[in-house]
Amino acid sequence: MSNEQNQVKKLHMLTPGDPVWILDQDLIWRDVIIMSIQKHHCIVKSQDGMYREVPVENVFLQPEGDLTSVNNLTRLTPLHQASVLSCLEQRYIAGHYYTRAGNSLLAVNPFCDCQYLYNTDKVESYHQQSEVEPHIYQVGEEAYRCLVGQLGKVNQSIVVSGESGAGKTVSARHLVQYITLVSSPGTISCEDFKGEEIERRILQSNLILEAFGNSVTQRNDNSSRFGKYIHLQFSRHGQLQGANILTYLLEKTRVVHQGPRECNFHIFYQLLQGIDDWPVPSAISKELKNANFKITPPATGPVHENRHLGQTLKAMTEIGLPVDFQQNIFQVLSAILFLGNIEFCPLEDEICKLLEDEVTEMAMRVTADLLSVETSDLEQMFLYRSIQPGGHARHSVFVKPVPQSEAQSRRDCLATLLYTRLFDWLVSFINTQIQASSYDYTIGLLDIYGFESFHINSLEQLCINYANEKLQQYFVRHFLKDLQREYEEECVEWSHINYTDNQPCLDLLEGQASVFGLLNEEVYLNRKSDSERLGERILSLVATHKCLSKGRQNISEPSFTVRHYAGDVTYSVEGLVTKNKDNIPVELVTMLQNSTNPFVSGLFKDYQTEENSGMTKKKKTVLAKFKSSLDYLLASLNTSDVHYIRCIKPNPLKQAAVFDRQYVMRQLVANGITEAVEISIHSFPVRLLYSDFLKRYGLVICHHQDPKLAEKHVGECGQDQAMLFDPLDMLYKKQLDMSSDPHRTPTPHKRRRR
Ligand code: ADP
Ligand code: MG
Repeated sequence: MSNEQNQVKKLHMLTPGDPVWILDQDLIWRDVIIMSIQKHHCIVKSQDGMYREVPVENVFLQPEGDLTSVNNLTRLTPLHQASVLSCLEQRYIAGHYYTRAGNSLLAVNPFCDCQYLYNTDKVESYHQQSEVEPHIYQVGEEAYRCLVGQLGKVNQSIVVSGESGAGKTVSARHLVQYITLVSSPGTISCEDFKGEEIERRILQSNLILEAFGNSVTQRNDNSSRFGKYIHLQFSRHGQLQGANILTYLLEKTRVVHQGPRECNFHIFYQLLQGIDDWPVPSAISKELKNANFKITPPATGPVHENRHLGQTLKAMTEIGLPVDFQQNIFQVLSAILFLGNIEFCPLEDEICKLLEDEVTEMAMRVTADLLSVETSDLEQMFLYRSIQPGGHARHSVFVKPVPQSEAQSRRDCLATLLYTRLFDWLVSFINTQIQASSYDYTIGLLDIYGFESFHINSLEQLCINYANEKLQQYFVRHFLKDLQREYEEECVEWSHINYTDNQPCLDLLEGQASVFGLLNEEVYLNRKSDSERLGERILSLVATHKCLSKGRQNISEPSFTVRHYAGDVTYSVEGLVTKNKDNIPVELVTMLQNSTNPFVSGLFKDYQTEENSGMTKKKKTVLAKFKSSLDYLLASLNTSDVHYIRCIKPNPLKQAAVFDRQYVMRQLVANGITEAVEISIHSFPVRLLYSDFLKRYGLVICHHQDPKLAEKHVGECGQDQAMLFDPLDMLYKKQLDMSSDPHRTPTPHKRRRR
């Protein structure tokens, strides 16, 4: 329908006296009453008694009746952004935190204790399908049923999205709990999970990863600083066999640097608060108790429930991590803490030395001790850079003293390297303990950081926002583009719905002439970093990419702005190439590889630095590695049926029962939720391959149409084949009959072209 026609239709529906919403600035809708209707505009009266003239396209009819009972937005009439927002608001205030939006579930964070929503009875009722109110368990059940019933693509994925603090991790936790519970019959108990060994291990591994990968940020007291994709592995009968965890982009800089009012990873605080509980040699425990650590700023907010060492140690033991390994892990963590206390001072121009004070002296001694390396080697590594003619470590002959700033960055590099290797080691260990030796199907759960935009953004935000663009494109492509194309192909009556396609932004980031291309080129050509020149090169892409513009005026450094689907983000060019290169000095790795502690040296056993990777094999850049891991993720989504949970943060202050309309609206727009709802209304709720449909319902049709024939075939070919062949014919005929009828309504189960 054209815009003109839409407006005429709208005008017919409006009557003076109607309560309507009008679109005001900044995505705010105001409640007003229509006083009179003109050809292209209405005169409305607002609550403060003011009269205004408003163009008809900015007037939105309010739905009648109680919106709290509308648990699927596709049933909302009229449907527009204002009614969606009001429906979510009213439901939220009434304590209904979940609402369906077509094939997605919207989950508005309750920010309050609502254990009544997540217990054994609820698990039972969603598993029996006796409860229909939208719930996170409902999505878990749908995915599990599709898998057990071997419907659609059989493998399932659940993508949990939303901005930081919106509730992704808690939702994913409930999902894992639900699915592990229902797939292990006879052991249902949420409160004290007493399931099989494997289920318990999977749940415990979550606790470990949260301790090591989460921290207090301004936006979330338990913010995951890494992305996680967990594959639950099942037998063909739907029994849980194991799981595998993939992680993405741990925010490693947090180990040495935390923003204002933010903390380091939980595990450091757990360690310090629970020194008496962890398996540490008493000599170290004394020093830990007496020291103050620079890299663990005190928590200003509430102490998070997650910060209990006892819980983490219990989880480690339950997943089968031997005590001596636990001891090693805490030793490395303590070394990182002491490393942060080492300071340098300038000796003369471009040369520095260790600060001669008690704190640094003690930190050096304890760090070397904990890492089982020589103090002199540690000092040498901080203060001297090796020059490697020929670019190979074995040929290194010269050393050159470094200035104070470089010594500091070598110290920080050591700390972050140790932490990331430890984290990766833990993830691999967990995988060895929970992975099934064989399995048939999987349910993948993706909990990945949401879109980020700060005053100044860098490579971390570029990666995070790129990941979100990729996921959005997947959603757009599979849900919006393909669905519409499929309907057109299958001649289903359909009026095309406009949606925002973010492909141009992806082209800018990763396409032929792109931001990633330029940043990788700088690394591969080993250019000396020059932000001005790089900034100009990036901005030269403006001519071919409409999603790119100059950075904001109020940023002094060279910068550029990307128009992401969720909003504009300005990235500073400064440091982008260095971060993308992520070069670790080879002497630092060699020192750790030579540690006399097999656990420490083992962490670096097959570590590849640029120098030791050889001349022909270039070390991959951070962007290149991240892109490959996302490609793998998307390939895995491609082979599964995808369910979406879109988490929404109701207010920035993390308060219960506060629904900030503008704040929520921004998230709805960014996620394309209204477009998706609109498409869902017009689309068919169930989409099955013709063969899958017959596999499931064939027998019913078979009996219904010609019971004798069906029986004959069941007898002759076995039930499966009878369902596959005989009814196929009948359905085909039925469809042909229908297609000759010009007034036919489309059949809800379309054949899908792949
Ligand atoms: P995200 O992973 O999206 O950054 P989290 O899942 O960590 O966000 O949630 C942030 C906080 O919100 C949690 O620590 C918790 O306090 C609260 N929260 C999230 N989901 C729920 C829920 N379903 N019920 C109650 N509180 C919740
Ligand atoms: Mg999280």
